[in-house]
Amino acid sequence: MHSSLPYIVGLTGGIGSGKSAATARFAALGASVVDTDLIAHALTAPGGAAIDAIRRAFGAGMIAADGSLDRAAMRALAFAHPDARRELEAILHPMIRDESARQCRQASGPYVILAVPLLVESGTYRERCDRICVVDCPEAVQVARVRARNGLAEEQIRAIMAAQASRAQRLAAADDVIDNGGSLAELEAQVERLHASYLAAADGIGD
Ligand code: ADP
Repeated sequence: MHSSLPYIVGLTGGIGSGKSAATARFAALGASVVDTDLIAHALTAPGGAAIDAIRRAFGAGMIAADGSLDRAAMRALAFAHPDARRELEAILHPMIRDESARQCRQASGPYVILAVPLLVESGTYRERCDRICVVDCPEAVQVARVRARNGLAEEQIRAIMAAQASRAQRLAAADDVIDNGGSLAELEAQVERLHASYLAAADGIGD
């Protein structure tokens, strides 16, 4: 059957599991990457498409001098008023869904890596994927890597992890698992094997 959409591999994993590291290696091999984190960032950067709606909803106090979303002010507001977080998500999520769908349609690579941190938690993104690839590592390794990357306290990292799907839930949703408990060379070898299988699968659905 002819399809205007490319073969889409949803890539996800908990915080610090190695999604960015894996995505970068898929990209280096030639996969097209659509990253919802990057899209969210662009929408809220100076001149971003969500800025006007955010200003209307929350006032100019949430917009920094450079015209971007004032993340610290927004975090404080969302902490004090959980409704504000939901309202921000109601602005951003449909825009992220539309823009990621547009980028998938326009992708020129043999297949798309659709990187979505909360893919397992979101029916919308799961439905879009031909296959789901989960980057996995022990929780203690996640904590150690995020501490080294961001300098966050262990409790903060554990709180973020508790708000995400559990490791078991993600593994249950996975068609493929990248075991990133080892070295970056081991990660790379697994990405190379999966890349070959995604090329073959994408070729199979091509015209
Ligand atoms: P995520 O995107 O899932 O939050 P990252 O890809 O940013 O995770 O990885 C978290 C941190 O751990 C980064 O600083 C990254 O460079 C590092 N990292 C990822 N995989 C490995 C690995 N196999 N060995 C060592 N460090 C790693």
